[in-house]
Amino acid sequence: MLEGNNNLEQCLKCNLCTLVCPMMEVNPDYPGPKKAGPDGERYRLKDPAFFDYALKYCLNCKRCEVACPSDVHIGDMIQTARILYGSQAKRKGLRGLRDWTLASTDLVGSLASPFAPIVNGTLKLKPVKSVMDSVLAVDKHRTFPKYSAKKFVNWFRRQDQSSFSKFVSYFHGCYVNYNYPALGQAFVKVMNSAGYGVHLLEKEKCCGVALMSNGFADKARRQGEVNLASIRKAVAAGEVVLTTSSTCTFTMRDEYPDVLGLTNGDVRDSLMLSTKWLYEKISAGELKLKFRKNFSKKVIYHTACHMQKMGWQVYSIALLNLIPGVELTVLDQNCCGIAGTFGFKKENYPFSQQIGSKLFEDIRRSATPDAVVSTDCETCKWQIEMSTGMKVLNPIEIIAEALDR
Ligand code: SF4
Ligand code: SF4
Repeated sequence: MLEGNNNLEQCLKCNLCTLVCPMMEVNPDYPGPKKAGPDGERYRLKDPAFFDYALKYCLNCKRCEVACPSDVHIGDMIQTARILYGSQAKRKGLRGLRDWTLASTDLVGSLASPFAPIVNGTLKLKPVKSVMDSVLAVDKHRTFPKYSAKKFVNWFRRQDQSSFSKFVSYFHGCYVNYNYPALGQAFVKVMNSAGYGVHLLEKEKCCGVALMSNGFADKARRQGEVNLASIRKAVAAGEVVLTTSSTCTFTMRDEYPDVLGLTNGDVRDSLMLSTKWLYEKISAGELKLKFRKNFSKKVIYHTACHMQKMGWQVYSIALLNLIPGVELTVLDQNCCGIAGTFGFKKENYPFSQQIGSKLFEDIRRSATPDAVVSTDCETCKWQIEMSTGMKVLNPIEIIAEALDR
């Protein structure tokens, strides 16, 4: 199933990967990409007892893979080894419950959403944070993303899309559905302005990224199968499937086959981030967006690690540059350190903040009182908002705000 990841013989021993690994910089217990990846894999193939539990510190940011001149699947090897030999799902007790809760985004979101004001208020209370810290090992310094009382899918049901003759499908993801419908609403506004109606997938589950990183690979695989079946139906109906989250996109395009062993080659090219699709359509002269003449915004763009791995930050940056009145600063690529649920855990929180400190400093240096940060990843948004106090918007929200409708 996962042997394709074991291209360890391609390693040139150049150590370039170790120079870019954010975890190596802050954690002396982490062996680094070369040792945890191709070097360790050689031993693990002989005997799984060589599995090193320090691999749990890998952020799966894939910066090592971007740097590797020999295309060694370093991050995939580490992820796969964690799933095969060191499953954190086997962790028992309260930390096992914590990992399961953090990974079960659909279930927790559907339970929390109807009681959003109470849940949001409770999660802010210091005594609650202290109990979660000491009992569940969820760090008390972490701010939780707010839940929305109204789910995106309920809002969408009331949107009449019947006047359109061309359609795209939208994979909204659990964050848009349970926490931040505003991003999905912005997506619909942009697509409708571009002359496209929006369909949702027949069935959608969380992409599974949090399940994978917490060791629940079997459940992630089952959810991936549901998503791929729905994506296939949309593609068979002639629609492209668009997203607004770089992490969901990367997971479904690359981690499904490389880490979960799911086949997606038939639909992979039809699944993409909406900024890429929009920019390519605009460049080909197939689509036009009309922007307000009086729009003005200072935007600081942060490239999420998975955007860098896909190489798609160029599309989001180019689109933002198309908006008259946008004054854009593009930051050097630095990891924000949150890595999904990783930064919520008490044992990881200090590493998470240390790793993100370079980025936070860069943002503070570029910030003006009227500036916003923009990024394509929702967990980067949580980390940057919590750590810098800056407002963070997805590029699609900025485009929606600038539209002249
Ligand atoms: S995926 Fe990121 S944290 Fe993991 S080894 Fe590679 S660079 Fe380091
Ligand atoms: S960058 Fe690639 S080739 Fe160089 S040591 Fe790391 S895995 Fe090996």
